[in-house]
Amino acid sequence: MAGVRLQSLRRRFGDVVALDGIDLDIASGEFVSFLGPSGCGKTTALRLIAGFDRPTSGRVFVGDKDITGVAPNKRDIGMVFQAYSLFPNMTSVRNVEFGLRVRRQGRGDRRTRALELLELVGLGHAADRYPHQLSGGMQQRVALARALAIEPRLLLLDEPLSALDAKVRVQLREEIRRIQTRLGITTIYVTHDQEEALSISDRVAVLSQGQIEQIGTPAEIYGAPATPFVAEFVGTMNRIESTVADPDNGRVDYEGSSLTVDAARGRQRGERVLVLVRPETVQVEAAASSENGLTGEVVSQTFLGSVTRLRVLAGPAEWTADLSAERAAALPIGAQVSLHFPPSSAKLLTLEGGAAEGLEAAAADSVE
Ligand code: ATP
Repeated sequence: MAGVRLQSLRRRFGDVVALDGIDLDIASGEFVSFLGPSGCGKTTALRLIAGFDRPTSGRVFVGDKDITGVAPNKRDIGMVFQAYSLFPNMTSVRNVEFGLRVRRQGRGDRRTRALELLELVGLGHAADRYPHQLSGGMQQRVALARALAIEPRLLLLDEPLSALDAKVRVQLREEIRRIQTRLGITTIYVTHDQEEALSISDRVAVLSQGQIEQIGTPAEIYGAPATPFVAEFVGTMNRIESTVADPDNGRVDYEGSSLTVDAARGRQRGERVLVLVRPETVQVEAAASSENGLTGEVVSQTFLGSVTRLRVLAGPAEWTADLSAERAAALPIGAQVSLHFPPSSAKLLTLEGGAAEGLEAAAADSVE
């Protein structure tokens, strides 16, 4: 197995800068997702790594070998695409064998290997079926087995689950991760689905407008977003534009209310900041007493299964809070409530010119 290094990778299409100088080191055996909204450059990056496209500038290394100019079929890379790209006139086992046939491996060996891989993806029983006799999820399993058959140094997956229904998607992403871990194969996974990226990756690279906004473990990306864009795109986030009022005591001023945010300590008085609060840390209570908080009115309730999501109008902004169904039942639409959050739970980002624009773009694409 080998790691991957992207060095100042840039790709322009006429006036469009699809990738704007990406630097990234992926360790051998690591599972990294490229996450971002439509048009951020994920597929472009993957195509450059696969060799289907050439960078305007920059280099791609696999291990310590510079493969920037190497033809795709000489790169030792397995790929799985969004569309089920199986050969319709071949059975599952013949599809999986295909890469081995091209590599002129003997008939007996390649059949044995193909059957092993079909077992690995749970389809040993479907070796003689044609693609049209398989469900979408099964077809993607065959595509995965086919990509793995050549024992690639690197596995690239481009939104492989997006055509499948929600339940199969969850099941298959777990299987992909299990197989990847077992084989220890370096993997890059492109998705616009933050839950998918967070659930299966060692690290997630969040892309926006051709650049990496942040790279980190799922916990880092979710718990400590480095930019307003990441905060907005990954998970649901309350964003409170505030002013640091009392840095010694960590107090910020939000629309005339004073809130305590530990991260505001030591900031500049008068600094414009974005306070970030996850919905699961917001506490909502009936009545209007409020320590470190605000008062407002419940304007909607949405049952999401494990939690109920409340929207609360407090001051000029609508807040999002996730509560247990039981607690939410006591706070019907129209209820007057107080709303607060632990001072240690909020993150803080400096609000500079342009940050708000980035946020709007992210909000348009964010998946709740
Ligand atoms: P999606 O999730 O919608 O597939 P993406 O993040 O994969 O989006 P890319 O397909 O990498 O985005 O595209 C990045 C930018 O480059 C977009 O603005 C796109 O329109 C542009 N682009 C990509 N390929 C080409 C091309 N062959 N010619 C011109 N522009 C292109």
